[in-house]
Amino acid sequence: MIDVEAFVDGERVPAVSGRTFDCVSPRDGRVIARVAEGDAADVDAAVAAARAAFEDGRWRDLHPRDRRRVLQRLAGLIDDHRVELARLETLDMGKPVSDALSVDLRVTVQTFEFFAEAIDKRYDEVAPTDRRTLATITREPLGVVAAVVPWNFPLMLAAWKVAPALAAGNSVVLKPAEQSPLTALRLGELAAEAGLPPGVLNVVPGFGPTAGAALGRHPDVDAVTFTGSGEVGRMFLRYAADSNLKQVSLELGGKSPQIVLRDAPDTETLAKAVVDGIFFNQGEVCSAGSRLLVHRSRKDELVDAVVRASEAMRPGDPLDPATTMGALVEKAHLDRVLGHLDTARQEGAVTLAGGNRVLEETGGYYVEPTVLDAVTPGMRAAQEEIFGPVLAVLPFDDEDEAIRLANGTPYGLAAAVWTRDLSKAHLMARAIRAGTVWVNCFDASDITVPFGGYAQSGFGRDKSLHALDKYTQLKTTWIQL
Ligand code: NAD
Repeated sequence: MIDVEAFVDGERVPAVSGRTFDCVSPRDGRVIARVAEGDAADVDAAVAAARAAFEDGRWRDLHPRDRRRVLQRLAGLIDDHRVELARLETLDMGKPVSDALSVDLRVTVQTFEFFAEAIDKRYDEVAPTDRRTLATITREPLGVVAAVVPWNFPLMLAAWKVAPALAAGNSVVLKPAEQSPLTALRLGELAAEAGLPPGVLNVVPGFGPTAGAALGRHPDVDAVTFTGSGEVGRMFLRYAADSNLKQVSLELGGKSPQIVLRDAPDTETLAKAVVDGIFFNQGEVCSAGSRLLVHRSRKDELVDAVVRASEAMRPGDPLDPATTMGALVEKAHLDRVLGHLDTARQEGAVTLAGGNRVLEETGGYYVEPTVLDAVTPGMRAAQEEIFGPVLAVLPFDDEDEAIRLANGTPYGLAAAVWTRDLSKAHLMARAIRAGTVWVNCFDASDITVPFGGYAQSGFGRDKSLHALDKYTQLKTTWIQL
């Protein structure tokens, strides 16, 4: 059991109220840490520290090269501590430790490296006005940015926000999810060790309706960058409207289709991509390929192969490096996923694989990889984000129907098209309403490409140089010569 404090103005501090909350490991249901329970008073202190740091220029006015060096040192320190951080992530939210190392930590380090490098390599603009004027267009930081993040990739998603926000010269208050606060607090400490001045990055753990809402409503926060559910995303828009019209960007959920056309590659390749696409991270992935849209001529063979591959994948102790599927994040989420499975059966879906809680004797929250057949487009299993290891199979007869099905949910985060016909792939990619379309692959990713949603999957983009846009504003300076 460890005691974990908040990180405000360069120091570890208890909550102003003195309260703590228990951090439960989904691996075995045990309490692993007591965490400072930040609320409005802690948010006030963190925002005040962030504001003071921004106004006196201790970070934004440093030479860009010096800011680059600090973030590069931070990337190096995260890399040095990657085994410790990967274990913390696994204990805290249940993902396999091998994935925590090979995905979460690798991408977190790359993210800080990428945005560090960008700091002293971007130029501003001069507008093509007449010769007696000089009009410059410069990008300036926003001020105090609040980053509110979920629990499925706690450190990596925090990095996608914190790294570009800091690179642009802002101060940040980070609120991790209450289910997974541990690595965010280490990030604050490592940033200080790397030389980030006090107050520039503050971390306030706490619950959504208290700490999260206080950030959303705070009159001195200039922008909120949020990743999480659509329901809470809507609240942040309301908080902004009811307070100071702070900028809001939202990365929300998805119901991403894997579309298998008649001429798609071989069945074994497809089955592996489908299974990895939905069961990676226990299905707790916003872009998870949770709908398999398959041409009727390929359905039986592919579904057989997917069921075989699903049955071969057993959840296990996430701390075991051989484990490929871990535990769901918390008991409440386990109950939610099992509730979705009950509803799907009541609505007529047929369970071809999985469907149950397993390893209950460990005290942890494990669910088998689950494949649902006989799903129709209007069912909840075809429409709602389950955020667990549940695949819904829907056949189609032609490409128009495939596109209608693909676009037939409120979401638009990602999609994949499997075909050997390049023209068809391009045409489908154009017709699909999603922020990312993969062709003959799934979940391919790099820090150089933007990630974010269309429609109710949100707006604003993480990753790539485009991410800097949402942490800066344009200033025009017009000079009469
Ligand atoms: P959530 O919306 O419940 O919580 C996200 C964050 O919001 C947490 O820090 C939480 O404390 C805070 N919060 C909760 N209630 C709040 C309130 N009333 N006021 C202010 N803040 C509040 O989401 P979750 O269950 O943690 O995460 C799962 C969701 O995140 C899924 O919908 C998933 O698709 C989405 N997600 C999206 C992306 C993406 O990049 N598009 C990535 C990962 C996860």
